[in-house]
Amino acid sequence: MNNFQLHMPTKILFGEGQIAAISQEIPQGAKVLILYGGGSIMKNGVYAQVKEALTGFDVQEFGGIEANPTYDTLMKAVELIRAEKLDFLLAVGGGSVIDGTKFVAAAVNYKGDPWEILTKGGASVTNALPFGSVLTLPATGSEMNCGSVISRPSIGAKLAFLSPLCFPKFSVLDPTSTYSLPTRQVANGVVDAFVHTIEQYLTYPVNAPIQDRFAEGIFLTLIEEGPKALANPLDYGTRANIMWTATLALNGLIGAGVPQDWATHMLGHELTALHGLDHAQTLAIILPALMTIKQDTKHAKLLQFANRVWGITKGTDEEKIAEAIRKTRDFFEKMGNKTRLSDYDISEESIPKLIAKLKEHGMTALGENQDITLEVSEDILRLAL
Ligand code: NAP
Ligand code: FE
Repeated sequence: MNNFQLHMPTKILFGEGQIAAISQEIPQGAKVLILYGGGSIMKNGVYAQVKEALTGFDVQEFGGIEANPTYDTLMKAVELIRAEKLDFLLAVGGGSVIDGTKFVAAAVNYKGDPWEILTKGGASVTNALPFGSVLTLPATGSEMNCGSVISRPSIGAKLAFLSPLCFPKFSVLDPTSTYSLPTRQVANGVVDAFVHTIEQYLTYPVNAPIQDRFAEGIFLTLIEEGPKALANPLDYGTRANIMWTATLALNGLIGAGVPQDWATHMLGHELTALHGLDHAQTLAIILPALMTIKQDTKHAKLLQFANRVWGITKGTDEEKIAEAIRKTRDFFEKMGNKTRLSDYDISEESIPKLIAKLKEHGMTALGENQDITLEVSEDILRLAL
């Protein structure tokens, strides 16, 4: 096990009816801004519960945060907060709304051009407004981590930052708020959480069996519960387990003391920026190809993954690894996420453009060994065609 520091300051309010408890988590007298997306919270009753819970607070609203939240939209929220001197933010929605709220929180008092938060990284953030979240889409872990991914379509960029000042103060996880999710978003959430776990597990062994077992518990739960959520969307137990599992996949716990990869995410971000695919759609395409190309350096963990997660016991090492990759691909397809670039009409003509963007964004030495060069990324993209 490697050395680590772990700080998990977000209070979780889990379960049906917990939205009502947010009034106790927001400072009395706060001037609150509710941030939300395209309107799903109006249709599923979450907005009404939030408004009810905030009775007595001075509340304003900012809607229209897109999936893959954009810098231009978020800067409008920043202007509103500055003009109205608002001092507490409440994100109500999926990862995009929470990520967007983190950026807004960091940008309001940023000295200089706030886009630097993405280009220079979270270390440039010295101040952030406090915020909480009401999560409606289990996927990203954004509700309990300090990461955020922001898009700027005008320059074809989708970039991430991490700042310890950008942990939510609290997050509500009410499984009933996920009943209204479209099938595509249920699938996206399960695939995103699965790949977050892979990014922190499928590297090289560092004698951290407890971390491996946590990760394997997450894989097995997603494999068991994911299809159930598609088949029976109103099952509380299934929704509750998926919601908590997705949070655990990226709240810092399983990544403590182990190497981390994140190359699938970095390649995926470029695919979203260039072709507009959903985040999890990009991951389902990149991961099987990356596992295949990087099977030498990931050999030991791939064999463990094959055995403990997919129950593969027969064949040579190479056959076991090939079977584990096939089963992972099949799982994504079973959830409804296609696993080839060609499934989205993306051809090899796009590959030089994607590689140029990776280069522009400094993504030239990715992965746990920093050995995913632009050449290797190109191999991965070609295999994903
Ligand atoms: P999302 O982009 O937040 O939401 C996707 C869609 O789902 C939206 O159209 C949204 O509609 C809808 N939706 C959300 N909750 C719903 C509900 N309960 N019922 C019906 N519709 C609902 O999806 P996401 O997968 O959570 O977030 C993706 C973003 O997070 C990407 O930008 C990705 O790069 C980023 N990400 C962040 C992290 C991190 O650690 N911070 C990790 C991985 C990925 P409305 O807009 O109408 O609400
Ligand atoms: Fe992700």
